[in-house]
Order: sequence, then structure tokens, then C-alpha cells
Amino acid sequence: MFEPPASGWSPPRVQRTSLYLHVPFCRNCCPYCPYTKVPYDADLVPRYTRAALAETDLWAETVGAAAVTSVYVGGGTPTLALDAVAEVLGRVRERFDLEGDVCIETNPADISAETIAGLHECGVSLVSLGVQSFRPESLHVIGRRYAPDVAERALEALAGGGFASVNADIMFALPGQTTDDVIADLEHAASLGADQLTTYPLFTFPYTSVGEYLHLRGVKMPDLTVRHEQYSAISAWCEANGFERVSVWGFKRGGVPRYSSVTRDGYIGIGPGSGSHLPDGFVLNTFDLEAWEESLEHGRSPIALRMPFEAHMDGWWWLYWRFYDTRIPMAGLDEALGGDAPKARRWLAAATAAGLVRRVNGSAELTDAGAFWLHLAQNHFALSYVNTLWTAARREPWPAQVSI
Ligand code: SF4
Repeated sequence: MFEPPASGWSPPRVQRTSLYLHVPFCRNCCPYCPYTKVPYDADLVPRYTRAALAETDLWAETVGAAAVTSVYVGGGTPTLALDAVAEVLGRVRERFDLEGDVCIETNPADISAETIAGLHECGVSLVSLGVQSFRPESLHVIGRRYAPDVAERALEALAGGGFASVNADIMFALPGQTTDDVIADLEHAASLGADQLTTYPLFTFPYTSVGEYLHLRGVKMPDLTVRHEQYSAISAWCEANGFERVSVWGFKRGGVPRYSSVTRDGYIGIGPGSGSHLPDGFVLNTFDLEAWEESLEHGRSPIALRMPFEAHMDGWWWLYWRFYDTRIPMAGLDEALGGDAPKARRWLAAATAAGLVRRVNGSAELTDAGAFWLHLAQNHFALSYVNTLWTAARREPWPAQVSI
């Protein structure tokens, strides 16, 4: 149950945390996209920047000058407001002890020599490009307005741009997309220099206009058999081409640092719609840009909803993300789950018997079947829980209560 934070509650102090910065501007709002964003207008950026700086200060005052183990800048399209990103990251360096990598999402339509220089000025070391597909028909289905050669040039420029690693996002299970099409996209991304690949299916969140679009046009989403076939083909291609699996959907080549947005086990979020995972629960900022800015201008917290952790819930959350990594270090299980550890061990034994998990050197690893099962579970999680929460949070700036 998510509710507004009780009066008198304040975020607990933390020693170490990751940090997420949400930049809510997009040039074109893609119809399938569930994230908090508004159409880009340069006049909106200064007010956003002031509010993001104020929120950085607010977090530093409440959680303390913690070590920040990684920063993830997402959106929206962060490259549309790189000066704002640089300013906020400068404030993060002043108020916290930033010791980890800075990762950022980029859009093919916005990559230029100037953007790459701006990313280096921000101290970005890991960069991800939202290619989605090099196939014009697939780009059309998801409402992306750039031509494939724009994504090709952007990926080549980033790969030669001096970053520690470049990830390419590639979508699969799109209407009309064959397994050969998906593999061709992976091959092309790798040949252009991507050393990490994140593959993910189209989530048709009912509240996005792509859900409505596909429904109205009677476009059929690929069924489970096709999705399984494509998922298995992706795994096999990656294995054969030197890309090691690092998560349910992610693969990387060589010893490059891992690009990842979500598997940190504690983070604070800055920006409208940002979530934070604190030691005592989850909190979610208001999704409304104006309401977020206004509360920070008045020195108030923009947190709209909070779900406190019940006993061992934090440990189950740890286990969930280790599953997402596809590797569970068994030595960490007792510390993370405490009294619930025996229950988790029984559960893992049942998953092992079912062929979903295998033991490798002190870890429990998901098999390919297990990874596909988790992929389906995540799909279900995204479509039911996240959809319920985000639909309510988008409907009004300060919801009274959301049950998930
Ligand atoms: S998919 Fe990316 S570019 Fe498209 S609206 Fe969403 S955040 Fe913006």
C-alpha cells in the first residue's frame, strides 16, 4: 500500500546510496512510453534546474553526505538539458561523496560532437543509446521518428567517443518483427561498436497511447511462442558472439563496467516521478512537473507516496534484484533475509528441481528457462503493479492512497 508519508516522517540517514536523476523533457513523446515526460521547451529548463538543485540539497540534509556509489541519469531525454545535468551533478559532487560511475541514457536524434563533449563535461563514463531497432518498420510501430542511419551514426560516434562502455537498447517481440530481424539488429549494433546490449520486449502499458493504438488498429502482439523463440535466439546469439549475460535482458562483452539502471539495492531519486529505495521503504515523488517544482520552491519535499517495508521485505527485494542479475550469491542470503532465509532456500530448491535454477560455485544461477520465466514475471509485474501505481500517480499530483 502506498500512502502519503506520515507527518513527522523524514528519510533516514544512509552511509551509501546510488542516485537517480530524472530529466523529463522529450522532443517527441513516443506512444508506448510510460515514463514521466513533457514536450521539450528550452524555457522550461531553468525552473527544472533550480528545483533539481533544491532537491539535491534536501536529500543531502536528510540522508547525510553519503557515499554515492553510482549515478544514473534517465528520462525523458537527458541530452536535451545537458547543462542542467552538469549543474546538478556538480551539486551532487559538492554535497555527497561521489565515488561511482555516471551512466546516462541518450537518444539517437540528439547525438553530435557537441553532445559527446557535453557528456564528458558532466563526467559521464557509461552511455546507453536507445536504438530500439535499425528496421524502419519497427521504428514506425513504436513511433520513433528518426531513420535507421541516424541511429547508426549516433552509435558509431558514441563508440568512438572515449566512454568506458556503450550500451545499445534493442527491442524485440514487436508486431511484425521476426527472429531474424531481431538478430540482425543485434549484429548491427555490435558491429557499430556497442559492447553492451539490453534487449527488452514492448510493454503495452494500457495507459500509454501505443496500447490504444495497437488495440484500435487490431495490431496483434507476438504470442508467447514467438516471444520465447526470440528470447532464446537472443541468448544463443549473445553467447556465440562473446556477450556474457549480466541480467535477464542485458549482455556485455569483455571486462567493461556493467551498464545498469535498476539493480542497485538502495537509491535516492531526483526529479518528477523519481522513486527512492530507502532503508525503511520506497518513496515516489509527485509525477507532475509543476507540482514537483512548486513544492521544492517552497522548501517542501516533493515525495507524494511512501510504502514502508514490513519485516524482511528489504531482503526479498534484494533477492528479487539478484534474480534479475540471474545470479544469487548464496553467502549473502542469510544476511539479506534473516529469519526468512530458510523460506528462500526452500523456494530455490523447488526452482532447482524444476530446472529453472542451477548451482555454480556458491551461487544459484538462472538457467535459460529460468531467465525466460523471470522475463515473463517482470512483464507481469510491470503491467500489473507498476501500471496500477503509475496510473494513479499520473492521474493526480498527490494521490491519497494506492493499493497494489
Ligand atoms: S521512449 Fe524515450 S524519447 Fe520516447 S517519450 Fe519515452 S523517454 Fe522520451
